[in-house]
Amino acid sequence: MQIAKIGEAILRTPARKVSHDEFSQAPLIGFCDDLLATMLAANGIGIAATQVFDPRAIMIIASRPNARYPHAPTMEPLLLINPEVLARSDEQVWEWEGCLSVPALRGRIARSDWVEVSYQTIHGEAQQQRFVGFVARVFLHEYDHLIGLTWLDHIKSTQDIMAESVWLTALEQGRL
Ligand SMILES: [Zn+2]
Repeated sequence: MQIAKIGEAILRTPARKVSHDEFSQAPLIGFCDDLLATMLAANGIGIAATQVFDPRAIMIIASRPNARYPHAPTMEPLLLINPEVLARSDEQVWEWEGCLSVPALRGRIARSDWVEVSYQTIHGEAQQQRFVGFVARVFLHEYDHLIGLTWLDHIKSTQDIMAESVWLTALEQGRL
């Protein structure tokens, strides 16, 4: 699947809910399989349906350790349909993020340290879960895509934006 890049209208369009009669059906299952494959092929740790030009409220999160977060938990990719934020911490954590739809840039933004969410499985079953730390950040990043936002909308200072290549060098040199 092609990944929408910033400037595409779909990335500014709030997603629509997956409807009752779509659950457990082959088209939805096939789409979610393709969405996962697209995320893995792009070496992503999360993806939202709007990033592949689909208007539905579907996302996948898949935390794993990386250079910036060596202690990030490794999790099986988790599919969340019609996710909602029930509660989030007032305490905010500043960190650098990248995005498949904002190529070659990194931005430093604040996000809640934990988040309590509801969502539905591919069979329409209601779930509730609390995500903490890095996983909460990944969730909130993907959730943003479903409400028409990207990390660029959270930037407080242009000094918090770096070219990815510069960011990687700074990271290797321990300057971040
Ligand atoms: Zn993104």
